[in-house]
This record gives sequence, structure tokens and C-alpha cells, in this order.
Amino acid sequence: MTKLSVQKRGIAASPGIAIGKAFVLRDELPAINRVSISAEQVETELGRLCLGLDKTGEQLRKLRESTAAKMGEEQAKIFDAHLLLLQDPELIGGFEGQIKDSHQNAESAVQDTTEGFAAIFASLDDEYMRERASDIRDIGSRLIKNIAGVNTVSLAEIEEEVVVLAHDLTPSDTAQLNSYVLGFAAEIGGRTSHSAIMARSLDLPAVVGGGTILEVVAEGDLVIVDGFTGDLIINPNDETLRAYTERRDAYLQERETLRQLISAESNTQDGVHIELAANIGTPKDAVKAMENGADAIGLYRTEFLYMDRTEMPTEEEQFEAYRAVAQTMKGRPVIIRTLDIGGDKELPYLQLPHEANPFLGYRAIRLCLDQTDLFKRQLRAILRASAFGELLIMFPMISNLQELRAAKALLHEARQELSDANIAFDSELKVGMMVEIPSAAILADVFAKEVDFFSIGTNDLVQYTLAVDRMNEKIAPLYQPFHPAILRLIKSVADAAKNNGIFAGMCGEMAGDPVAMPLLVGLGLTELSMSAPSILPARKALQQINYAEAKVWAEEALTLATAEEVREFVLSKLGQLTQ
Ligand code: PEP
Ligand code: MG
Repeated sequence: MTKLSVQKRGIAASPGIAIGKAFVLRDELPAINRVSISAEQVETELGRLCLGLDKTGEQLRKLRESTAAKMGEEQAKIFDAHLLLLQDPELIGGFEGQIKDSHQNAESAVQDTTEGFAAIFASLDDEYMRERASDIRDIGSRLIKNIAGVNTVSLAEIEEEVVVLAHDLTPSDTAQLNSYVLGFAAEIGGRTSHSAIMARSLDLPAVVGGGTILEVVAEGDLVIVDGFTGDLIINPNDETLRAYTERRDAYLQERETLRQLISAESNTQDGVHIELAANIGTPKDAVKAMENGADAIGLYRTEFLYMDRTEMPTEEEQFEAYRAVAQTMKGRPVIIRTLDIGGDKELPYLQLPHEANPFLGYRAIRLCLDQTDLFKRQLRAILRASAFGELLIMFPMISNLQELRAAKALLHEARQELSDANIAFDSELKVGMMVEIPSAAILADVFAKEVDFFSIGTNDLVQYTLAVDRMNEKIAPLYQPFHPAILRLIKSVADAAKNNGIFAGMCGEMAGDPVAMPLLVGLGLTELSMSAPSILPARKALQQINYAEAKVWAEEALTLATAEEVREFVLSKLGQLTQ
């Protein structure tokens, strides 16, 4: 029977075309069917429970193995704890008791028993024991899904080529994606949500904000993700499939051709050098940055080292990661951004309170200035790694001068501690800040006297300046990096940098947009940092720009009234170039 073809339009989040079988990530538990069973059904339900336990054990053992191989023994230990729990006689006795004595079906017996145990653990004084409550719930829901026959394969366990479809992909979900994943589509999110940013850095075609996808897709359906247009096609007809296969192959071919630029200079047509840097989240990404010809790392999002684990990374672990990046980059500059947790990036083990407006809340430098032990540990690790390459340090979410000064004071203390202990670090290490809050952009001339560089974070700067949530697909058309107000803020930052002899770059997603490039260069930015796969296309675009001309365009763009006018203006100029 031919399956019904369905097309949805979301937001193009990461370029490329993925064609493959759907892997549907459903997080929620299946609705638990509570039935009272007869005495004759007890054996059947005990049998279902037993099969569920076996399957769960097998999955956990596999997960343990793959986690140990990918992330090390320490991280794999969580699954040892889960396996022990799964064999716990009291827990199993509880399941069986509910079936035999209370005549409950297997799913509801597991649900009630695990909930009962979890509630006891959650009420204990000992923090370690309290945390076990979530392990018990985790085991319970995996077991229930296995008994009910619902897909419980986690992303890390995928072993065939698939396209992942999900309501949302959290940063820790994206961290688990392996090379079998061809692309993904999510129901929610915008171009600068972290799922989209990760997709670009992993070089995976992606669509976000696709609306109700999970209602219309079934496991194993053939799907096409078009990361250029935001289209998602489920069960395409033969003609559509052929057309998309051709487009995908042509795109891959074009990318191959761009590789000729790998060691070319990042210069404009008239010889002005612009540093084309990569945004990374892990030491592995630095290898990709080099493979894509990055001149530098313009943003190392260190929070990814803190995510997808059960406890804080130690100073040593952080030092190893930062040193690995410094060494991979072989003397090229690496801007390490201190922890930016909060917003859409959570750390369960920090137990942060739920906030109504997390993007305006306890986030990034605010959290670090409050939890100074955590912050100092990271600062020491960065300083120590600075002895192994050309590192720069950057503070995120600075909204006022006191924050910058407080962060620098803690950095000073960390230096002092290392000096006292005779530990080597780069005493000339440059200190910069992200400009991603309008107050910082407006006061750039004041800040410029106290930092060595600026990096403009347009992902946040746009959301805060225009009051448009970067995650909300409903208002995505209002999220306008080309808004003249944004251009004026960029100009204010670039001018302040120039007047004070420091450099200004950009590491928000706008930096990788070839249409924005002539404006950014013309406004005076000297470094653009983007996802690694965007670097070669950016180098090609840069080589076609004339710096003197770009300055004139930027001046003119600043006089325009709307984002559409600005975009069209640049497109018309670029169109003239290619004619
Ligand atoms: C930004 O806000 O532009 C930025 C680069 O930081 P993040 O996307 O990690 O918030
Ligand atoms: Mg930001």
C-alpha cells in the first residue's frame, strides 16, 4: 500500500538535504492502560514483566558499552547503577506483588511501584539518595515502554542511517547524535535555538519549528529534510524523491569544489584580511574546524562539557579539554567563552530553579558570579591550558560594568593562585566580552577601555533588542538580524573598538550569513566566527567583496528603515557583483 505523502514547512535551520528512514523520538510515556486483571491473567502479566526486564537489561548493557567507548568509564557508571537497580529484589518483588496481590497489569504495577520507591528516595535528607529518585523513575519509564512495546531506543543507540524527528532536541540530545543520523526535524525552535546551532556545527541538514510533525509521521516512514527551505516531506512520491536526490548530490558536489579554498587567505578582493573563525562546542569540533580551514576558534561554547553528564566536570577534565583544543589549533587563536548555562541550556545536577523567563534570568555570568567556586575552577583550567596555545578568554552576557570588573577580579585571583603554586599560564592572556545585551552595545565605548576585544553575540542581541524570543517559531519572522537597530548597535561596537585600539568580531549566527557579510565587514568587524561548514562558503563570498565598496554599502544600509529594505539592498548589490 502506498503511504500518504505529507509536506510540512518549518524553519530552515542547517543547510543540506537529508533523505532517510524516520526515527521518531517520543519522550513522553505511553498512556498507561490501567486494567484490573483476573487470576488467570496473572501468569501472562508476570511473563510480560519478565520480558520487559530482560529487554531493559539488554538495552542498558549496550548503552553502558557505547557510553564507555564514547565518553569514558566514568560516564558509563550511571548505567551500572541503573542495572543494579533493575536487579534489585525489593523493586522486582514490588512489581510482582502488585501483579499477584493487587491484580494490576504489568505497566501499572511498574508505574506504581517505581513511583512509590521514588517518592521515598525523594524525601530523604541525603542529597545523593534523593538524586536516586530520578534514576528509579528513569528505569521505570524505560521498563514501561519496553513492556508496552514502544520505541525506547535512545539517540546514542541508533545503529542504522536515519533522520531524527522530535518535538524538540535538547542540547544534550544533540550531543548524543552519532554518525548514523543524516539530519533532523523538530516541531519547535528557531534558527538560533541551540538545536539549530548544533545542527550547523555537526553539519547535519535540519528543520526546526515544523509544527505538529509527530502526529503525522510513523517510525520507518521515508522522510526528506530540506535544510535550505525548511521543507519536510514525509513519504515523498517517486518524482519528488528523484528531484531531491539530485539536489542533494549536486550540493555535496559543490561542497567538494569549495575545498580548494581550504588554505586560501581569508581576504577581500582588495586584500583586507578578515579572520574567519569557527564556533565549537567540543574538542572534536576543533578538528572539524581545522578540516574546514578555520583561521581561529572565535567561540568555544564550554557549556557542552558540562552537559549530558551527572556531575560537574573537574578542573582537570576542563583543563584537558581546553588544552586539547589549543593543541589542535596549532597556535591559531582560540576564544574560550566561560560557562553560559541557563536559557535553553540546563544542567540537571545544578538544580536551578524553574524560571518564567530563563533567557532573562539566572544565566551565564550571573550564575558564575554567584557560584564563584564553580567559576574559579573553570578560570584556573582555562589559564592552565593557555600555556599550550594562543588562548583568549571571553565572558558572556555582560550587561553592566560591575559584572565585567567582578569577573576580571576573579580571573585575577585565579592567576594569583596559579602563580603561588608555580603553575604555568600565559600572563598576557587577552580578556574579552560578548556584546549580546543592548546595554553593552550602547556603552561599548565605556567597555572598550576595560577589555581586549569584543565579540558580538547576535543570537541574543537580536532577541533582547527586538524583544523576540529566539526559540519561538511563532514569531520567527520578527527575529530580524538585518533590522536597522541591530546594524546601528553593531556599528557602535565596531567604532568603539576601533577608537580604542581593540578588535571587534561576531560569533552569533549572523556572522555565517553570506548576505550579511558585506555589511559586517563594511561596518568594521575584523573577525567572523561561524559553524565550521560555513567557513569555506564564507571565504568564497569574502573574496568577492571589495572592502572599500562594502564600507559605502554599510553606510547606506544604516540609513534604511526596515530589515526588508536592508536585505534587499544588499542582495541587489551582490546581484550586481555576480552579473
Ligand atoms: C549569541 O548569543 O549570539 C551567542 C553566540 O551565544 P549563544 O548562542 O551561545 O547564546
Ligand atoms: Mg548568547
